[in-house]
Amino acid sequence: MGKLIITGCGAAPGVPAVASGWGNCNPNNPKNVRRRSGAYLEIGDARILIDSSPDLHAQLVDNNIRYLDAVLYTHAHADHLHGIDDLRDINRISRQALDVYANDDTYRAIKERFPYLVVDDEMPNNPLYKASLILHHIIPGKSFEIKGVKITPLLLAGHSLPSVGYMFEDGAVVYISDCKEIPPESLALICRRPQILVMPLTTPRTLVYHMGLETFLGYVDMLKPEIAVVNHMAVECDYDAVDEMTPQGVVPAFDNMVLSFDERKK
Ligand SMILES: [Zn+2]
Repeated sequence: MGKLIITGCGAAPGVPAVASGWGNCNPNNPKNVRRRSGAYLEIGDARILIDSSPDLHAQLVDNNIRYLDAVLYTHAHADHLHGIDDLRDINRISRQALDVYANDDTYRAIKERFPYLVVDDEMPNNPLYKASLILHHIIPGKSFEIKGVKITPLLLAGHSLPSVGYMFEDGAVVYISDCKEIPPESLALICRRPQILVMPLTTPRTLVYHMGLETFLGYVDMLKPEIAVVNHMAVECDYDAVDEMTPQGVVPAFDNMVLSFDERKK
């Protein structure tokens, strides 16, 4: 069985948020405590991290994640990227540089903001002091492999900068990051009835750069996943309220939620 851990299901401010506190969220429900966005997958022989949030250190420790074959980035916003320095301890354990995959925009952002982490060859930095990353370009729509696992990057639309989602093994897991819509060319690539579909719902109502509940449920209807996971939730999204406003087969995420899937089923 493959394993997916939602290491952080919060939007950029986390829950509780510094500015808006708990908002609509019931502070007595531990499932409402949300770190910034991230996920971890074990699929085939591959161990893959999606994004490095500012909460990365706690997310790695909580889930005992010590080995990674790759990090996949969805986009260059701080809540998805700026824990990148904490990849250092992964290098420290493996004593190797770590492969990082990103679209053009994120690739450029990493090189500009974190030039001291990027190595151009297999020679790692000294991991005592800094992470050591080998950057790879991805092209939306063009599949690539990590340890024999097929990964298809999916172009997403309507966020304030270009973002991508990822489909693993033709639909074992489909992970959609921040966006307002999934464009037709990406919908055409996503296999119908994926086992696990993770999608963002920052707030139930549509925002300038984020889809709302109606759009979210429209995609669920169209793609018919075995299970849909509501992710990237801000203080407007109380766990029980989201659970109530979504049909059976759609479940709100919570931090450190573990989902398993059948790796052989296509
Ligand atoms: Zn974002």
